[in-house]
Amino acid sequence: MRFFFITLSFLLFSNPLISSVYEPEVLWKKAAIKYCYVDKKKLIKKTSFKRKSYDYVLGKIPQDYRENLDQVVQDQFNPNDTIVHFIGGKDCSDDPSSDIYIIPVVPKSGKSKKKRIPYGKASVGYFGRVSFPNIYKKVFKSVPSSEKHYVLLNLKPVQYKHETNISYEDALPYIFLHELGHILSFRHEHGRDEMLEDPHCKGKQETMSTTAITSGDYDPFSIMNYCYLHGIIKKRIPQTAPELSERDREIFRELYHPLF
Ligand SMILES: [Zn+2]
Repeated sequence: MRFFFITLSFLLFSNPLISSVYEPEVLWKKAAIKYCYVDKKKLIKKTSFKRKSYDYVLGKIPQDYRENLDQVVQDQFNPNDTIVHFIGGKDCSDDPSSDIYIIPVVPKSGKSKKKRIPYGKASVGYFGRVSFPNIYKKVFKSVPSSEKHYVLLNLKPVQYKHETNISYEDALPYIFLHELGHILSFRHEHGRDEMLEDPHCKGKQETMSTTAITSGDYDPFSIMNYCYLHGIIKKRIPQTAPELSERDREIFRELYHPLF
């Protein structure tokens, strides 16, 4: 018993103070995470994406554009800078062993009672299927253990009609990096109370997950901060290159370095 207490307190007090909002249960146990692009509709079934909630068809990202997206991902997440990084980028039919399935979709036009597809969406198995796969399997028996995590990318969001917005092609790299941030355990930076004092954050407040860990200072420039991302997309904030903030990188190093 005594040993247990010593171990626990060591873990608690040796943890550095991390400025972030993240889910400790979904930290990956490997540094190189493989992703692929879903190229056949039937592959969507391998993920937990709620297919029937939305009206959409599977989209295809033009090849040159996909290369640009892959390049942004390689530049921003790399072994030296963030420790954790992404590999792959093939079609999922050619590389079914990928950890993350990227699902590009185009909403169907016309009236629908179904939900509107967001700009992007990410699923990592919120209840810890990454860190605690055995517990996950016991608790969620109906979900096959082979289920893939996914990132949904909406290739024709209706929200982009307004002419003051940047084009969706230009916005997609920011959205992709943001969703990959979720994949690596990050929650929204604008879930923190400090956002109330950020002039770019009006109307963006949201309820924070109760299992997330929040500490350190608020980062207005985090890739996980909608106030900053939407500001760029709506041209309220001057456009900079799609990239992680300095603090985002620092946190990935702090979170993932001790694991490898
Ligand atoms: Zn998000």
